[in-house]
Amino acid sequence: MAGGKFFGGVHPEYNKDLAAARAIEAMPLAARLVVHFAQNLGAAPKPVVKKGDAVKKGQIIAEPQGFISVPIHAPTSGTVQSIDIFPHPVGADMQAAVIIPDGKDEWADGCNVERDASRFDAEAIKQIVRDAGLVGMGGAAFPTHVKLSPPKEKPIDLLIINGAECEPYLTSDHRLMLEKPAQILEGASYFAKVLGVNNVSVAIEKNKPDAIEAMRKAAEKLGIAVRGLDVVYPQGAERQLIFALVGRTVPAGALPMDVGVLVQNVGTSFAAYEAIRFARPLIERVVCVTGRGIVNPRNVLVRIGTTFGDVITYCGGQQPDAGKVIGGGPMMGVAQYSLEASVTKGTSGIVVLKQEEVAQFVGEACIRCGRCVRACPMRLNPSVLGIFAERLRFDDAGEHHVLDCIECGCCAYVCPSRRPMVHQFRRAKAEVRRKAAKAS
Ligand code: SF4
Ligand code: SF4
Repeated sequence: MAGGKFFGGVHPEYNKDLAAARAIEAMPLAARLVVHFAQNLGAAPKPVVKKGDAVKKGQIIAEPQGFISVPIHAPTSGTVQSIDIFPHPVGADMQAAVIIPDGKDEWADGCNVERDASRFDAEAIKQIVRDAGLVGMGGAAFPTHVKLSPPKEKPIDLLIINGAECEPYLTSDHRLMLEKPAQILEGASYFAKVLGVNNVSVAIEKNKPDAIEAMRKAAEKLGIAVRGLDVVYPQGAERQLIFALVGRTVPAGALPMDVGVLVQNVGTSFAAYEAIRFARPLIERVVCVTGRGIVNPRNVLVRIGTTFGDVITYCGGQQPDAGKVIGGGPMMGVAQYSLEASVTKGTSGIVVLKQEEVAQFVGEACIRCGRCVRACPMRLNPSVLGIFAERLRFDDAGEHHVLDCIECGCCAYVCPSRRPMVHQFRRAKAEVRRKAAKAS
């Protein structure tokens, strides 16, 4: 069935032209890497190295804890200087290992070896994906091997490779599709093999016609469809993407697998290619460093653990009137309180806004205009949820389905009072989940 326009959504200024034409360039190794252990949704891996240990590139430095968890690997060879608490881009202080590179960038045994992937069956591919530490690289950081393990009673008949990249400013997926289309599709073919799926579609918003063309050319002989989607935010959110593409509705509280669909980001597909074909764990990623507050916006291949400060310095530093640094995009990202925060597997962008742009985001009282209700793609009432969250009435927020909020930021974007709703909903969701966990 063909899809269509989902309910709600907004049309923000995309500002992608700031970095879209800049080819991906590899940033030289920083003098110091701060590698966080908590980089996946689920249980944080546990460190297995200590101060003073020598490590090789690709060596496991933290072991997964349970099924919904993946290992963390050393992004280069060097010495563990310390294990301590550092700012994390999610906006909290968390445990990380500081690695001082030795400059040799020497791989651990068994890594970086080209191999014949056709010999791997579905179970072997899933194991490689887990051992390589793969998570959803669109920002959610959900472990990829878990997504690839739907229960038998929920068979998947459609794999969507998500190249929508609807978040304003960000262009890292765009560049990856232009520069590595065949590799992305090879990664997707491994996912399809695991799931036993023949129907694979790549979904890209129509504001990236060159990426659509590049992916179509690479997909020509593979039987993979590449679909251009209307430009409306949040087109790349899983539920909205599935509805737009094939008209299937993922009910509240359900998952894409409940309607036979699995969605993987293009960056994750590329990482799967690297892991399966070359035994390279996830130790680097493309980060779009952009915004009018940065001197040289660009797309940079960055080692995990590189501090935001070092990345920004590499991109020419901040403009004198820079006002805010965001980890991720302006709709779903998190304002950073320290440039000691470092790049994680989920860091798709670093956006630096000017002071005059930040000044627009000062929250005032709700005037009950209803714009947020019309914009919410999850059909929630953000106005009411915001008032509950503000008054710490988290039980009421829970009863009004705050857990269904996908944190897309459409409500905050249209709100004339510039209310900080996404921030409030994140806190309310955490409180509702904490209480539920305590009760169970
Ligand atoms: S309430 Fe949540 S899902 Fe709805 S618009 Fe706001 S952030 Fe998006
Ligand atoms: S858009 Fe803002 S001011 Fe209008 S109802 Fe929603 S929260 Fe209130």
